[in-house]
Amino acid sequence: MTGPRAYHQVPVAEVISETDDTFSLVLAVPPELAGAFAYRPGQFLTVRIPVEDGSVARCYSLSSSPHAGDLPTITVKRTAGGHASNWLAGHARAGFVLDTLPPAGTFCPDSLEGDFLLFAAGSGITPVISILKSALAAGRGRVVLIYANRDERSVIFSAELRRLAAEAAGRLLVIHWLDSLHGGPTAAGMAGLARPYRAAEAFACGPDPYLAVVRQAMSQLGVKAVHLERFLSLAENPFEVTEPTGGVAATLQVCLDGTTRDVPWPAGTRMLDVLIDEGLDPPYSCREGICGACACQLTGGEVDMAHNEVLEAEDLAEGYILACQSLALTPEVSITYS
Ligand SMILES: Cc1cc2nc3c(=O)[nH]c(=O)nc-3n(C[C@H](O)[C@H](O)[C@H](O)COP(=O)(O)OP(=O)(O)OC[C@H]3O[C@@H](n4cnc5c(N)ncnc54)[C@H](O)[C@@H]3O)c2cc1C
Repeated sequence: MTGPRAYHQVPVAEVISETDDTFSLVLAVPPELAGAFAYRPGQFLTVRIPVEDGSVARCYSLSSSPHAGDLPTITVKRTAGGHASNWLAGHARAGFVLDTLPPAGTFCPDSLEGDFLLFAAGSGITPVISILKSALAAGRGRVVLIYANRDERSVIFSAELRRLAAEAAGRLLVIHWLDSLHGGPTAAGMAGLARPYRAAEAFACGPDPYLAVVRQAMSQLGVKAVHLERFLSLAENPFEVTEPTGGVAATLQVCLDGTTRDVPWPAGTRMLDVLIDEGLDPPYSCREGICGACACQLTGGEVDMAHNEVLEAEDLAEGYILACQSLALTPEVSITYS
C-alpha cells in the first residue's frame, strides 16, 4: 500500500484575468521551496482541489519562463461543467494557498539553442509560451508560433505575444489561426503554414482532435518527431492512497538524485510504488501513463509498461520508461533519473 504524496503549500501572489474565461495565478513560492519548485519550460504543477468527500488532482502548465525572470505562474481556462477550473476561478485570490506537487513533465526542449516550431490551440498555449519565452531569453534561434483559437477574443496572451514579437528583433513570428475567419484547423492549412519552418524542433499542445491535425500536417511535411502535450483531467489522485497492481519479483537498482542503491522489487508492484515504499522521492503525478512526470531511463533489464500515452518512439528508443506503469520482466532491472 502506498500512502498519499506529500505536497507543498504555495500562496497565490496575484490573479490576472487573461480573457473572459481564462486567468493566471502568479505564485509566491517561499524561499525554502525555491529548489523544489525549480522548473523547465513546458512543465506543469499538479494541484489538489477539494471535493465533498476528499480531493481531485488536476495538472496546470506553467506559463511563466524560468529564463525570463518571471514569477512561477499557472494559467487556467474554465472548462464548461468542469469542477477544478471553476473551483479555482471561484476561490483563488491573492493570499489563497494552493496545495501542489512540485513541477513535473517531459514536454520540454533538451536545449533552447535551436529553432522552434510551436503549435498551440486555446489554453494549450500555456506550456508553449513558456518554451517560447525561454527560447527567446536563453537561446539564439528563430521561434515560430502557429496559434489556433475560436476568435480574436479567445486569444490568450495576445498583448504579450505582440510585445514579445516586437522586442524579439525578427526572431519570433506569431501566426494566428482563427476559426471565425478560417474555419477549424485543417491538416492542409497547418502544413501550408508550417512548411517553411519544418526543420525546427516541433512542439504542440491542445485538445486531442487538434493534435491529430498537427500530427497529420507534420507527417505530410515528412516530419515524424513532434513533441505533444495532451490536456486531460486525471482520474487517479496522487494526493490520496492508491493500491498496487500485479507483476514479478526483481532487484531494482536506482540512480536518483546522484545516489545509487538496490531495492527489492516485490512481485505485483509497480516500479513507482517500490521506490516510494522504499522512502525515496521519485517524481510523479498522474499514475496513469498520461503525464510523463515519472519518466526515467532503463539502463539494464526489461520492464513491461501497462499503459503509455506520453512517451514517443524516440523516447522509448532512448530507453525512457514510465515508472508508474512498469512491472519487472527480468530478475534485475536498473534505472536512472536524469
Ligand atoms: C499535463 C497537463 C497540463 C495541463 N495544463 C493545463 C493548463 O495549463 N491550463 C488549463 O486550463 N488546463 C490544463 N490542463 C487540463 C486540466 O488539468 C483540467 O483537465 C481542466 O482544467 C479541466 O478540469 P475540470 O476539473 O475543470 O473539468 P472536469 O470536471 O474534469 O470536466 C472536464 C469535462 O468533462 C465533463 N465531465 C465531468 N464529469 C463528467 C461526467 N461524470 N460525465 C460526463 N462528463 C463529465 C465536464 O462537463 C467537462 O466538459 C492540463 C492537463 C494536463 C494533463
